[in-house]
Amino acid sequence: MPELPESVIIAHQMNRTICNKKIRQVVIQQPKCLNRPEQDYSAGLVGNSIRNVEPWGKWIKCTLDSGDALFINLGMGGEIIYFVDSAEIPIKVKFYLEFIDGSGFFVTLWWFGYFHLVRKNEANPMTDHLGPDALEISTDQFLNLLQKRRGAIKPFLLNQKNIRGIGNFYIQEILFQAKLHPLRQISTLDETDIIELYRAIHQVLNRSIELGSSSYELDFFGNKGDYSLKELSIAYDENSRCPVCGSQPEKIKTGGTSQYICSQCQPLKDGELSDETAAETTTQPQFRQTKIKKSIGKQTI
Ligand SMILES: [Zn+2]
Repeated sequence: MPELPESVIIAHQMNRTICNKKIRQVVIQQPKCLNRPEQDYSAGLVGNSIRNVEPWGKWIKCTLDSGDALFINLGMGGEIIYFVDSAEIPIKVKFYLEFIDGSGFFVTLWWFGYFHLVRKNEANPMTDHLGPDALEISTDQFLNLLQKRRGAIKPFLLNQKNIRGIGNFYIQEILFQAKLHPLRQISTLDETDIIELYRAIHQVLNRSIELGSSSYELDFFGNKGDYSLKELSIAYDENSRCPVCGSQPEKIKTGGTSQYICSQCQPLKDGELSDETAAETTTQPQFRQTKIKKSIGKQTI
């Protein structure tokens, strides 16, 4: 799923390619991805042009000349691709938008995704209540964000309502660089820990942006980025070694997913395990799974 580095790259490419072109038509093949009646899209988009594109966590926000905005979420495995000629549009696209010069972009979705057209000054629950951008938040804001919070650090960072843009792909490297165990209770972090975490978020996400983002996602021109698994300090492999201390990585379960950590570099001392996580790990597996599924659903926003 695209995370902040992918949204940043795509928004940048869209900004320099499609802004100020008048929209000729919009075609929607998956109405359940919409937030309003299908006919509103033609009325709101055709004749308008996109003034500006910006990353919005895992969403792409296209602000129109009218002041309305089209929010696009690619879900898991979706792509948004530029075309210069409508003959390049694949048959099975879920959405495409064509400009008067014949160029445009299409969107393919693999699992789910959203196209939300939001009128100026209109509320939209799925995009209004996201936390601050992971790369724009200041150190002081980040310190305040983590103050008096409960629970484990990893689910907190993945919850887009707390901070937007971090997902399952980058979180492993962020926590390794910050030397934090994913299940570490937030209340046990001191100021130095939080500042290290802030630095790690910037370092990892900016490194990916420098490399054109993830090698598992396509950019607006259909190219893959260069941020591959090789960039991760701890490989997805129990037979590899930690580059800092030489220990063998350990695979642990955190919520609905697994990740690798170095238990020497990311220790969890007595009293640091999140209470909520401790409670969850002692409950019945079936109950835990239900909770996990719900939290995954929320994180995909
Ligand atoms: Zn280590």
